[in-house]
Amino acid sequence: MAQLELQHVSKHFGDVKVIEALDLSIKDGEFVVVVGPSGCGKSTVLRLIAGLEAPTQGRILMDGQYIDQVSPKDRDMAMVFQHYALYPHMSVYDNMAFALKMRKMNKAAIDEQVRRAADMLELTDYLKRKPKALSGGQRQRVALGRAIVRNPNVFLMDEPLSNLDAKLRVTMRREIIELHKKLGVTTLYVTHDQEEALTMGDRIAVLKDGYLQQFDTPQNLYQFPKNQFVGNFIGQMNFIPAKVEGNVAILAHDTSFQLPAGISTEDDSVVIGIRPNFFTTDIAENTLTINVEPTLIEHLGHEQRLHFDWGGVACVALISSQALATVGNMLTLGIQTESLSYFSASTGLSLHSYFAATSA
Ligand code: ADP
Ligand code: MG
Repeated sequence: MAQLELQHVSKHFGDVKVIEALDLSIKDGEFVVVVGPSGCGKSTVLRLIAGLEAPTQGRILMDGQYIDQVSPKDRDMAMVFQHYALYPHMSVYDNMAFALKMRKMNKAAIDEQVRRAADMLELTDYLKRKPKALSGGQRQRVALGRAIVRNPNVFLMDEPLSNLDAKLRVTMRREIIELHKKLGVTTLYVTHDQEEALTMGDRIAVLKDGYLQQFDTPQNLYQFPKNQFVGNFIGQMNFIPAKVEGNVAILAHDTSFQLPAGISTEDDSVVIGIRPNFFTTDIAENTLTINVEPTLIEHLGHEQRLHFDWGGVACVALISSQALATVGNMLTLGIQTESLSYFSASTGLSLHSYFAATSA
C-alpha cells in the first residue's frame, strides 16, 4: 500500500506539452479517478507514475520517498489496460501466474495467489481455458487477476472497461469497487467517462489539455464546479449569460432574480450554470419561470429531454415524462434557483465562496 504525490510534474515531448505543473496527492488506500477528454494526458499521468516515462520537470514521491531513480519493476505497481494484453497461447491460470514465475516465486505460493485471485474474480471454473474461449468481461477479469496476484503497492488502471458493452461496464464498475474495498490498495483509475468517474472515485481529478482543473469528491465536483469546463464535463450544464445590477441577475426576456448570498462579482455580467435537471414543470409560487418552445424532445423512459433556444443559447432540460410537452408548443418551465452555479463572464471561473480561499 502506498501514498503517492506528484509535485509540479510536467511532461513535454519536444514542443508538445502534454502535462503542465501537475500537483496531485493521493492518500494511502484511496481510489482516485483521473477523468478528461481523449488526448488530455490521462495515460501519460499513469505512465509517469509507473516510471514508463520520466517527467520533464517536477518529481514523484511514494510514501514520502522520491522515486525518480526507482525502475518501473521495482515500483511494485500493477497496470491494467483497455486492451487486456493476455497471452493467447496460455491458459487463464498461466496468464495469472506468469509474473510470479518470472519472479521465481515457488510453485505452492504461486498456486495460492492465483487461486485466491481467481476465487475473488469468480474465475475458478475457467482456469484451464485459453483467453479466446472467454467473454470480454471474463478476459478483463483475468487482466485484473494478473494485477492482483502481484500484491502491488498501487493499481494503475487505464480505461479498463472501455472495450466492454454498456451493461457489462456497469457490472464491472461495481466489481472493481468491491475489489478495492477488499484489498484496500491505492488505485489510480483513468477514464473519459464522467459517469464512471462519479460512481467510482473517492476523489476525481479533472484534466483538460494537460492542466488539472479540479481535484475533489464527486459530490463537491458536482455541486461546486470550479469552472465552466468542469461544470459541463461532470454532469452537463447549460450556460446562460446574465446582466448584473446590484445583486439582481437579469436574464433574457427580462427574467430576473436575486443573486444568492456568497456570490459576488465586480463585473456587470455573469454566466449562470443550470443543470438540465434543475428545470421543472412542478411550479411552486416563488419559482422563477421561463417560457420555452421545445425544438426536439428525446424520451428516456422515466424522463424526457427537451431542447430549446433561450435568448440565443441552445439549452437542454430534463423533466418528468409525465409532463406534457410537444415540439413547437410553448411550455412554462420553473428553475430551481437555489441549485445554480455562477461563473465570471470574463474568466469562466466559479464565483462561489467555496473557492474564496483558493485563488484561481
Ligand atoms: P489520454 O490518455 O488522455 O487520451 P495521452 O496521455 O495518451 O492522452 O496523450 C496526451 C497527448 O500527448 C496526446 O496529444 C498525445 O498525442 C501526446 N503524446 C503522448 N505520448 C506521446 C509521445 N511519445 N510523443 C509525442 N506526443 C505524445
Ligand atoms: Mg489514454
